[in-house]
Amino acid sequence: MTEYKFYLNGKMCSSKLKYKLFAPYKGKSIGNVYRPEKKHVEKAIDGACKAFEITRKYPVFKRVEILESIIQGIKKRKSELEKTIVLEAGKCLKHARGEVKRAICTFTIAKEECSRIEGGIIPLDILSANVNRTGIIKRFPIGPVLGITPFNFPLNLVAHKVAPAIASGNPIIIKPASQTPLSSLILAEIIQESGIESGAFSVLTVPGKDAEKMVQDSRIKKISFTGSADVGWKLKSICGKKRITLELGGNCAAIIHTDANLDYAIERSLMGAFAYQGQVCIHLQRLFIHKKIYKKFKKKFLDKVRNLKLGNPSYLKTDIGPMINIKEAKRVELWIREAEKDGAKVLMGGKREDNFVTPTVVENCPVESLLNRCEVFGPVLLLQEYDDFSDAVACVNNSEYGLQAGVFTNDIKRIWYSFDEIQTGGIVINDVPTFRVDSQPYGGLKSSGIGREGIKYAIEEMTEIKTLLLNLNN
Ligand code: NAP
Repeated sequence: MTEYKFYLNGKMCSSKLKYKLFAPYKGKSIGNVYRPEKKHVEKAIDGACKAFEITRKYPVFKRVEILESIIQGIKKRKSELEKTIVLEAGKCLKHARGEVKRAICTFTIAKEECSRIEGGIIPLDILSANVNRTGIIKRFPIGPVLGITPFNFPLNLVAHKVAPAIASGNPIIIKPASQTPLSSLILAEIIQESGIESGAFSVLTVPGKDAEKMVQDSRIKKISFTGSADVGWKLKSICGKKRITLELGGNCAAIIHTDANLDYAIERSLMGAFAYQGQVCIHLQRLFIHKKIYKKFKKKFLDKVRNLKLGNPSYLKTDIGPMINIKEAKRVELWIREAEKDGAKVLMGGKREDNFVTPTVVENCPVESLLNRCEVFGPVLLLQEYDDFSDAVACVNNSEYGLQAGVFTNDIKRIWYSFDEIQTGGIVINDVPTFRVDSQPYGGLKSSGIGREGIKYAIEEMTEIKTLLLNLNN
C-alpha cells in the first residue's frame, strides 16, 4: 500500500493519523495519506512566520530563480502530474494535460510579475504648506498565507495561490482537498528542490473542518479560499481581521444571438457544458438561444452530445469520466428528476450508473428548480429560447451568483450592453463562460465571491501598500 506523507517546513512527514484514498474511477484504492496532527499544524504556522522574516526580504532575482526552478520541475514531471490528476480527480487525460500546461503558464506569469510589483510617487504639495513634500508608495508582502483548494483543479488552483505568494515574498501553507492531495504533494517535492526557505511552503492534508482553526489563527495574515459558496462565506465570517479572497461557485450562463457563428458556438458549448463532467466553477449551466436559431442549434448540438465517449478517464479519446464520488452523482440525478417534476423536459441523458452521469441536456427548466437556480456542478446543460436580447441578459442576471458569462454576438452595441448590464466578474464575447486565461483578473460578484485571482491581482491581494511621506524642506 502506497503511503503519502504531508509536507511540513521542507520535509515529508508522517503521523499517527491517516486516511484511505480511492480513485473516482471504479473506486480503485490509491493508498493511505497521512494527516497532520495539531502539533504539525502548529509547527507549520510557526515555520511560516519564521520563513517570512527571510522571504519578505528576498530580492526579485531570487524569487525569479525559485519560480524558474519550479517551472522546470513541473515540465520534468509533466507526465506524472497528468496521470496523478487523472487518478485522484477522475479528470479525463486530455483535460489533465491542459491543466498541467496551465500550471506551467501560471508559474511563468508569476515569474514575470515579480519584476512588475510597482509602486508610485504621489504629489503632496496640493496645499501651499506642503511645498517640497513628496510621497512614495511601495507594496510589501502581507505575511503567512493560507491557501485552501478544491478537488477540481488539484494542480492549477494550487498554483494560483502558491505562485503569487512566492512572487510577492510570502510564505504559504496549502490545505488541499482531501480527495486530491497528491498533485500538491508532487508540487511540494518540486518546490523542495527550488532552494526556497523551509517553512515558506507546506502542504497540510488536514480535514476541511479542522482547517477552521488555521483560518482563525491571527498569525495567518491572508486566506485564499477556492471552493463552495457555503464553506467560503462561513470562513469569511470566522476569519477575523485578516484579508480573505473567496473564489466560489456559480451557475454560469451564455447567450447565443442570431448573428453568432453557430457551429463555433455549438463546439464551445459542448466543451463548456461537459468538460470535466461539468465539475468546473465556470461550467456552462444555462444557455439562452435566440428563437430564430433555437431549433437548428438544438438538433446540431444533440447530435454532438450523442457522440461523446464515456469511460476510463486515462484514455485520450474519453470525453466524459466519472464524477468525483457517488454522492455527488446521486445529487445531480435527483436534481434532474425534481426538475422533470417541475416541468422541465430532458432532451438527452439524465441517467446515472455508479458515479457516472450521462451528458444531460434539459429544455425549459423552471427558474425555481434546484437544477436551474443552484450550482449543478455536473454534466448538465439547460436550454432556453428567447426573443429579445435584453430579456436574455435579464435571465443571465436572474441568479444569486455572478462568476462569468458568455455572449455570442458580433454586434458592438450588444457587446457593450452586455459589459454594462451583466452582473458577473467576467463577460466573455464569442465564447462560453468556461474560458479563462491565468493572467486575467478572475473572480465573482454576488455569492460567487470576493477579491480576484490571476497572478497580478492575487499579488495585489497578498501585499499591503505603505506610503513614505518625505519632507524635503529640512
Ligand atoms: P468544498 O467542499 O467547499 O471544499 C473546498 C476546500 O475547502 C477543500 O479543501 C475542503 O477540504 C475545504 N473545506 C471544507 N470544509 C471546510 C471548513 N469548514 N473549513 C475550512 N476548509 C474547509 O469544495 P469542493 O467540492 O472541493 O469544490 C467544488 C466547489 O469549488 C464548487 O462550488 C466550485 O464552483 C468551487 N470552485 C470555485 C472556483 C473559482 O475559482 N471560483 C474554482 C474551482 C472550484 P476537504 O476536502 O478536506 O473537505
